[in-house]
Amino acid sequence: MVIPRENNMVRLYIQVASSTDKDWNPRKTATAEEVQQHAKEILRPYTITWDRVEWFSVYPIGQGIAENYTLDERVFMGGDACHTHSPKAGQGMNTAFLDAVNLAWKIHHVESGFAPRSILSTYESERKLIAENLLDFDARYAKLFSARIPSAGEVAGASNASGPAEENEFIKTFKASCEFTSGYGVAYNPNTINWGPSHPAQHPLILSYQKGTSLRTGRTFHPATVTRVVDSNVVHLEQEIPLNGSYRMYIFGGTPSRTSRAIKDLSAHLSTPSSFYSIFAHRDTNKDRYHERHNPHTTFLTLCTILNVPRGQVDIDAMLPAVLARYRDHVYADDIWDQRVPDAKASAHAKMGLNEEEGGIVVVRPDGYVGVVVRLVEGTGTAEALNKYFSAVTGKTLGEERAVL
Ligand SMILES: Cc1cc2nc3c(=O)[nH]c(=O)nc-3n(C[C@H](O)[C@H](O)[C@H](O)COP(=O)(O)OP(=O)(O)OC[C@H]3O[C@@H](n4cnc5c(N)ncnc54)[C@H](O)[C@@H]3O)c2cc1C
Repeated sequence: MVIPRENNMVRLYIQVASSTDKDWNPRKTATAEEVQQHAKEILRPYTITWDRVEWFSVYPIGQGIAENYTLDERVFMGGDACHTHSPKAGQGMNTAFLDAVNLAWKIHHVESGFAPRSILSTYESERKLIAENLLDFDARYAKLFSARIPSAGEVAGASNASGPAEENEFIKTFKASCEFTSGYGVAYNPNTINWGPSHPAQHPLILSYQKGTSLRTGRTFHPATVTRVVDSNVVHLEQEIPLNGSYRMYIFGGTPSRTSRAIKDLSAHLSTPSSFYSIFAHRDTNKDRYHERHNPHTTFLTLCTILNVPRGQVDIDAMLPAVLARYRDHVYADDIWDQRVPDAKASAHAKMGLNEEEGGIVVVRPDGYVGVVVRLVEGTGTAEALNKYFSAVTGKTLGEERAVL
């Protein structure tokens, strides 16, 4: 095969042999010519020539992490500035992005008065743990790479689960780490924003993993496919709200004939002036927000309602109170079959582990991780539980809880 010479910029990773000499410094000794020679040997019997080398660098495999990510929660570091590792698994940019997103929404919430300054401390506790996990994976993975050069079949087999591959240590390590390296394995520990048994918000209606829901706080919201009612488009629910800095409240409404009272009660309690829904409402009520799909009433929150009913039977204004009907672009019918839950009538409800008839409320952090899951019931309970969670998150007294002097 001859690759034409014109306009070809190619990036090559070339493994340079290591040395047992403790003074050996590949950055000083490995020249571009030496690296090119390695590339030629690896590619033999094919040949490779260069018109010019645009850039080259020698990277000794190693892992490094900063002791702290922040100085007094005023100076913050993220990305390569605070964690470095080998480039073998393509994680540097992913991790840097997630660091930035994790920090950005928290700064936005503090600046907007939605959260106390103390929320900023969760940046380091959440992201440093992930970097430590990454470094641990990278150390194991890089060792396998360095121990010997993996064959083309091994590399192909590791990146293509369906392809032919011998299941050796290299492939097993890669596959076992796929959840983590794809980004879905990020798991934050319980803290103020990720509900857990020691969270300040305690309420009998709060659900936990395998006790009423399959969602885990501090982990990503499960992907689900639903029908958007206003235009009948089949959409990915988890992608419906853009990265707009708002908490996402998914109201899984169950079967409307069974839950209409609970949904009305929830809306009535959300509308009280001291609820988390009302307290951050836009103050400039005269401004026309008709076209604001995601934040018509506040930038603190975006609401979605998902009903266990075929799209053709949904009448938004007749079935939903004004608070939820206002978010009409975010009303969905849970009527798409999903092979992961083949027996479910409402597959999105089922994937979240929620009761398909009764529904439930899922609060997702602005960066897509589950904050808390609450049962949907008639009366004040659901709103109380949500107010308790948001009281802890915002540092404000919400709902029925009022300071008594
Ligand atoms: C060859 C190579 C291949 C890679 N391949 C992958 C890959 O396939 N997948 C992957 O996920 N990651 C990959 N990475 C890693 C990824 O590029 C980095 O981890 C990621 O870019 C880190 O992002 P960052 O924002 O922390 O830092 P950077 O992207 O390095 O951004 C730092 C910025 O700060 C600027 N800067 C520095 N000093 C100053 C100063 N004093 N004042 C103002 N600005 C300053 C720099 O110019 C730079 O623009 C690769 C890296 C390299 C080098």
